[in-house]
Amino acid sequence: MKFVYEFAEGNKDLADLLGGKGANLAEMTNLGLPVPAGFTITTQACKQYLASGVRPAGLDDEIGAHLSTLEEAMGRRLGDPHDPLLVSVRSGAAISMPGMMETVLNVGLGDASVAGLAAQAGGDERFAWDSYRRLIQMFGKTVCDVPGEEFEDALDAAKAAKGVRDDVDLDAADLRELVGAFQAVFAKHTGHEFPQDPREQLDLAVEAVFRSWNAKRAVLYRRQERIPEDLGTAVSVVAMVFGNLGADSGTGVAFTRDPGTGEPGIYGDYLANAQGEDVVAGIRNTVPLEDLERLDPDSYAELLRIMATLEGHYRDLCDIEFTIERGKLWMLQTRVGKRTAAAAFTIAAHLVDEEMIDMDEAVRRVTGAQLAQLMFPRFDLSDEPQPVTRAVGASPGAASGEVVFTAEHAVQRAEAGHRVILVRRETNPDDLPGMIAARGILTSRGGKTSHAAVVARGMGKTCVCGADEITVGEREFTVAGHTIAEGDVISVDGTTGRVYLGEVPVRDSEVVQYFEGDLDPANANDPLVSAVHRIMTHADERRRLLVRTNADTAADAARARRFGAQGIGLCRTEHMFLGDRRELVEKLILATTDADRQAALAALQPLQRDDFLALLREMNGLPVTVRLIDPPLHEFLPALEDLAVHVAVARERGERATRQEQMLAAVRRMHEQNPMLGLRGVRLGLVVPGLFAMQVRAIAEAAVALAAEGGTPRPEIMVPLVGAVQELETVRAEAEKILAEVVGDSGVPVLIGTMIEVPRAALTAGQIAEAAEFFSFGTNDLTQMGWGFSRDDVEGAFFWRYLELGIFGISPFESLDRDGVGRMVRIASDEGRAARPDLKLGVCGEHGGDPDSVHFFHEAGLDYVSCSPFRVPVARLEAGRAAVLDAPSVG
Ligand code: ADP
Ligand code: MG
Ligand code: MG
Repeated sequence: MKFVYEFAEGNKDLADLLGGKGANLAEMTNLGLPVPAGFTITTQACKQYLASGVRPAGLDDEIGAHLSTLEEAMGRRLGDPHDPLLVSVRSGAAISMPGMMETVLNVGLGDASVAGLAAQAGGDERFAWDSYRRLIQMFGKTVCDVPGEEFEDALDAAKAAKGVRDDVDLDAADLRELVGAFQAVFAKHTGHEFPQDPREQLDLAVEAVFRSWNAKRAVLYRRQERIPEDLGTAVSVVAMVFGNLGADSGTGVAFTRDPGTGEPGIYGDYLANAQGEDVVAGIRNTVPLEDLERLDPDSYAELLRIMATLEGHYRDLCDIEFTIERGKLWMLQTRVGKRTAAAAFTIAAHLVDEEMIDMDEAVRRVTGAQLAQLMFPRFDLSDEPQPVTRAVGASPGAASGEVVFTAEHAVQRAEAGHRVILVRRETNPDDLPGMIAARGILTSRGGKTSHAAVVARGMGKTCVCGADEITVGEREFTVAGHTIAEGDVISVDGTTGRVYLGEVPVRDSEVVQYFEGDLDPANANDPLVSAVHRIMTHADERRRLLVRTNADTAADAARARRFGAQGIGLCRTEHMFLGDRRELVEKLILATTDADRQAALAALQPLQRDDFLALLREMNGLPVTVRLIDPPLHEFLPALEDLAVHVAVARERGERATRQEQMLAAVRRMHEQNPMLGLRGVRLGLVVPGLFAMQVRAIAEAAVALAAEGGTPRPEIMVPLVGAVQELETVRAEAEKILAEVVGDSGVPVLIGTMIEVPRAALTAGQIAEAAEFFSFGTNDLTQMGWGFSRDDVEGAFFWRYLELGIFGISPFESLDRDGVGRMVRIASDEGRAARPDLKLGVCGEHGGDPDSVHFFHEAGLDYVSCSPFRVPVARLEAGRAAVLDAPSVG
């Protein structure tokens, strides 16, 4: 197996093998851009190393051969005492995991070659010793697990001894001494000297990068971002170029467009006289990239040319890392850049206007998850709250919460149910758990490319960065004369970068206002609203799946319709039995004679009819699926314990409590060990005479009433929890009689169908379809019964372990389990349609609003998905994406 690729051998499509970084370094090399020479060790090598714990056979020789080629190209040998070649050893997985894994710079340097490096740099000894101390520091931390603080402490001690504040104020002699101190720290922790053999350094660094795939924070990040565990990282070995050779050198990062808003423009940070890590770490304050035009006009012009080349080539926003060594520009990394949800939409629309992509591609480039983010609320500023400071809006959103200062506290307080804002000077990968737990993040240092900003944007979390007017202490921060202690509430606006004391109320986002019909996209000056409108319109044109909503009230139905719902896929009738109707339901349950039961049902029926009429009216002309009552009856009765106490107390006092006693007896009678698998759904309808009949009559009467008003009712009666066709046939026979009576030949069509939510129903779908005009997959129950998981019991109890073990990558209740539950859906669809070709197929479980599941339902050939009103736009978009992802991409 080939484990090592020259840059010239790779290309951008080989990310699985070479990692995103290696693949794009190859792509840039082949585009003729100035990339330092190097090679990439494949993810295959990493996987084999992680499985066996040793470097795979043949790898060392292959690295040796490529190293020789590199040495020849550079005219220098690795670690040569007189004229050393140095390299960086860089991690890079197929899917970008910024800052999660390790990179070691300046590999190859040792006691013998420091002087040679100084000579190479025109006698710059300070530079050589600084490079060496960086190597020992990075190598110690990354390869040998030496605690980073020990090096930091030694560095602080050196600065204190000299009485200076900045690293740059240490001279060659100071740094030489610091190298000695670092070597002592290294020896103390590892029990051996810092390795001087350049090739040994290289091999150990490669192994450390392999291992960093399994670093705790990397594992956590993958889980959060749903990145598979088994990809492994590639390792790129790159000839070093130096941004720390003086004022004519430096390093920076740039985006080809604004990753926050998506607007075109120059976007980035530059740091003169510095090595790569310094920018991303936010340790020293960077200057805006535009300043480079003044500092080094030639390099700036070349950088802009390269950025245009990259955008044209990748047809997308790119982000890049570059270094200038004594006036010569080097490209060190590029990738299609991360962006906010808003930027994803605006960039896609802009690229269509610039004729780089077509509308299908624009639809592919955005996601339902991003759209969902744009529907988050915004701060309502109508009371004109005064911000205490304004900084960089690094990741949009509006978040209020209690201030915490450590990741640990963030996690603790969030677990206790509090909303928290994590406030840090800057964040680093160790803060990840706290960043996940927090509602928002506020830092006093770093710009849009700092760790906090990049990670927050990736997570869709509100973040304000570089608030340099605030001073962050251990348990409080100060700003503009205010002191904000741990636990005080602040509000941060990641769109505008504003920070407010106290809680600021929130309002609908522009995108929600657009969906509500309150913002006309033609007149909106907001490029985002116009981009969303264009992309949604195209998705609607392309999608094959219809999107309905789950709604039980007229208000929900109305909103869903504004959001584009094409009917109701699930109206749960249960809630119609609660509130002041509870008493009627109790009477129904406690009835001992037919007459009592009939009386209770007769009282409920007109109420139900009015409920259904309101829904049918709201959805006039569109289908409305009403599910007959589903949950176990005892859910409508008081708890057994409460009743028992009540009755006992009454008896003690010698009082009579006939009603309570009757109720207690009923509750005892109906008690079930496992109500989810007990008397519910169709079973209840078959056992309680008149119950389903009453509901069917109410639906039919509502439909007739709407038709009489001149409306177009399209009711669909859905029988829950059917497992055998005989159950459905029995209900159907009774329902048809009532329909004939009420609807007669008025021409109002009423369909009768069933949920497919019991595995037996899925497996006998061919029979069931004989009695059903439609199927609606109840994927919540189908998942519960397919896996034998009681959702309420298992999610909190042991799902974490299942996720940890990789038994599933995501809860099957969140995203449909394609292999198991999905297979039942396919079997039922195929066999149902075979038996009845015009069978309508839909889904009404929560999966109907989950992007990945929507794609599955598209592939399985369903007619519609149904989801909660707020998810309707997301489902529309994902249904469109599922359709265009089937279509070939252009360009
Ligand atoms: P990350 O994935 O964390 O960004 P990188 O591998 O990109 O890690 O490297 C970390 C930093 O070191 C970056 O700023 C990068 O530009 C810089 N760097 C990497 N290789 C070289 C090199 N050969 N010469 C100079 N700087 C480098
Ligand atoms: Mg990088
Ligand atoms: Mg169900």
